[in-house]
Amino acid sequence: MTLPYMKPLADLAERHAHGTRTRYRCGCRCLACGLANSAYVSTRASLKALGVTDYVVSAELARQHLVDLRKAGVGKRSVSAASGVRHETIAHVASGLKKHIRESTERRIMAVTVEACADGSYVDGRRTDALIDELRGEGFTLRLLSRKLGFKGRTIHFYRRPLITAKNALRVERLHQLLMEDATQALAPVKAGRRGRQPRRADAAADRRVA
Ligand SMILES: [Zn+2]
Repeated sequence: MTLPYMKPLADLAERHAHGTRTRYRCGCRCLACGLANSAYVSTRASLKALGVTDYVVSAELARQHLVDLRKAGVGKRSVSAASGVRHETIAHVASGLKKHIRESTERRIMAVTVEACADGSYVDGRRTDALIDELRGEGFTLRLLSRKLGFKGRTIHFYRRPLITAKNALRVERLHQLLMEDATQALAPVKAGRRGRQPRRADAAADRRVA
């Protein structure tokens, strides 16, 4: 079954090249997609062996950190930008509404420091390159990413540079979060018994005609 906001799986699959885990999760069982998926699974397994887990934990530690950051003048939007965690999630953790988060989310929030939020400062570009590479691996071209980042060029001017501005690093964090989350949400298993409108195929076809 498909929830109304979800695109049909086949449409989503088309957007991702073979040899990507996303395409595998869309149901493709070709050799290239299978290899991409096993690479992911074995990476996760070795991270787990190293003790890097991603369990659901109490959000209290993160909430306290948000309180501390706020006292130091760092607001929720800055934390969201610096951590790549959605603003809504940050807001709900801060208000205490959200009581549990993933460890990976906790780590990202805890990694935010007051200094990291100064836009003009320079940061190591390697993490940003890794995020861009991950998106390229999912089939996004540099040209498309550049446009989505709001630049006009065919490439991302700070890609593969040792030092980049914190502002650009945040831009990429946000875009990565947005695009990867989009894919994950669309692929999330649907709870049995949940009623949703059938996807409006006629509208989807009309959209394609316009595009
Ligand atoms: Zn495939």
